[in-house]
Amino acid sequence: MSSTILVVEDEIAISELISVNLRLAGHTVLAADSAERARSQVAAVLPDLILLDWMLPGMPGIDLLRQLRGDPRTREIPVIMLTARSAEADKIHGLDVGADDYLTKPFSPKELNARIKAVMRRRAPQLTDDAVEIGGLRLEPSSHVVSGQGKPIDIGPTEFRLLHFFMTHPGRVYSRAQLLDQVWGDHVFVEERTIDVHIRRLRLALTPTGHQDLIETVRGAGYRMQQAA
Ligand code: CA
Repeated sequence: MSSTILVVEDEIAISELISVNLRLAGHTVLAADSAERARSQVAAVLPDLILLDWMLPGMPGIDLLRQLRGDPRTREIPVIMLTARSAEADKIHGLDVGADDYLTKPFSPKELNARIKAVMRRRAPQLTDDAVEIGGLRLEPSSHVVSGQGKPIDIGPTEFRLLHFFMTHPGRVYSRAQLLDQVWGDHVFVEERTIDVHIRRLRLALTPTGHQDLIETVRGAGYRMQQAA
């Protein structure tokens, strides 16, 4: 699993320790020492996850979290709050405002990695390395291999990402605009009909093993991955 993680922490020693550990785990790390700096970082690059310290100079972490949750562009970013406070009331408050998890300092690198992995599995499974299988169609993110009933399937990089997203979110309908956001990414300007081109290519790639109908067209709404063949 390789993600872009924004670390918002004003204590430099802690921030560096976390960053080194995250880089060792294969992540790309962005750092901010205040909520205000974090906001401009997020405006430029949407991270896959934010580690957010509660006590910051200026705006507290909890206020930044509230702002992130109030903006459609940043609403879905997984956030883990970091804090030296261990009062149960603070945890409940943080989770109320929309934190995905909570870590009380000091914590071990092992614990941090485990929490990140758990939150990513829950919130953004398409960014994890877990293999997914539906109806005999299997996708392995770590080796970039797709196979149908054990036979390798030749697939382009965009179709791979599209299929990975669909397979980690089966049964749900996604509009073209949502697929653009989720698969092509933020700040990317692609026409919506480009999606149709890639869906067509994806179905073509899945045809030799008979998996083309797993991707359904939902008239007037978008596309959906069937839950089982
Ligand atoms: Ca702090």
